[in-house]
Amino acid sequence: MRINKIVVKVASRCNINCSYCYMYNLGDLSYKSQPKFIEEKTIKNFVKKILIHLQKTKLSTLGIIIHGGEPLLMKKSDFVSFIKHFDIIKENNIQVSFTVQTNGILLDDEWCDIFKEHGVHVGISLDGPKEENDMYRVDKKGNGTYDDVIKGLNILKNNNFNTGILSVMNLNINPDEYYDHFKSLELKSVDVLLLDANHDSHESILSSNTTPAQWYIDVFDKWFNDEQKFKIRFFDMIIKEIMGEKIGIDSLGVSENNVLVLETNGGLEAVDVLKLCGDSFTKNGININTHEIDEVSKSDLIDVYYNSGKYLPKKCLACPVQEICGGGYLPHRYSSKNGFNNPTIYCDDLLRLITHIQNSVIDTLPKELVLRAGLSKLTYENALKIIDDNLPTIPEPKYIAKLESFKKSKQELSTNVL
Ligand code: SF4
Repeated sequence: MRINKIVVKVASRCNINCSYCYMYNLGDLSYKSQPKFIEEKTIKNFVKKILIHLQKTKLSTLGIIIHGGEPLLMKKSDFVSFIKHFDIIKENNIQVSFTVQTNGILLDDEWCDIFKEHGVHVGISLDGPKEENDMYRVDKKGNGTYDDVIKGLNILKNNNFNTGILSVMNLNINPDEYYDHFKSLELKSVDVLLLDANHDSHESILSSNTTPAQWYIDVFDKWFNDEQKFKIRFFDMIIKEIMGEKIGIDSLGVSENNVLVLETNGGLEAVDVLKLCGDSFTKNGININTHEIDEVSKSDLIDVYYNSGKYLPKKCLACPVQEICGGGYLPHRYSSKNGFNNPTIYCDDLLRLITHIQNSVIDTLPKELVLRAGLSKLTYENALKIIDDNLPTIPEPKYIAKLESFKKSKQELSTNVL
């Protein structure tokens, strides 16, 4: 495995309590046994061992996503010392980038000075207009957090930061209002994330008045036709993949997922959203204080995550948008019944959205270029027919047993119910 993006959990607790949070509110309780903050010994071991891994795999960049819980619960002096530990990696001609992902509530001018001095990019979580944001993004007393986040955002703006926003889809928001709201905030970029759920837990999404496909298509149309648009990463990625650029992120495309999570106790794990599959689901006994980075390949869950764009269920192998979709985001593929041997819960939505985006992009391109690039329009209905036609011809892949090894036994299921 070639790993060069690490989500570092510098704090395992949060100052707010969003109801959809996979860290605390979707069944995983392992945070309770994590140290509240990452320890210096863990950081030192991590820096030493990731350098060995980068040199061995000849990787020349390292992306550090500083995460929590809420990372700004960390003392400012500890944050600075955390960043400084990476100097040794830079001295070995490896480019290191830092992004801190925060809810923005604890931001102040001093934090901005630290970020500026150490070249830290900042991402803020906000789900849209106040009323809708405050449905789910609440503090520990249940009060909405919108006003505090906007205060933080303004502090960043006054300090000349080009902030990116992470936003979770909310089907209750009118797509026009959703887009206009973010546009009014004058942001550099917004990512519109699918709400995290899996086949065991997605009834609330299915019972909404609109579908994720329709909601995303409406937001896309508004964005695509806006001449002064800001960047929306999810749409950018789909367009780039359609045009043949193999960028891939862990929720789209078939590239390897070269991301690991470092927990505050030093645990090395697959993506944290997998916590929604059950209590302690991501735990694997591999720890940076006792293991080398290369040893993560011993974890079946990390292997499945790293190769999730390749270890696809048969339906995805039969699908004409497979290379763009990549079967969706691994946590969204899980069911107690089949493990990861499912397409994502958003399969139908992604098929509709990707075909819609492909056809919209093709409509804007000169005919000659479309011919040269080998692009052709594909309706959702045709895509379904292609899947139906191809499916019987696909042999059972060898890795299916590995995908299914994560299903829960009857006993585990009954314990969960109790
Ligand atoms: S659209 Fe559905 S079938 Fe096609 S690759 Fe994505 S998840 Fe698989």
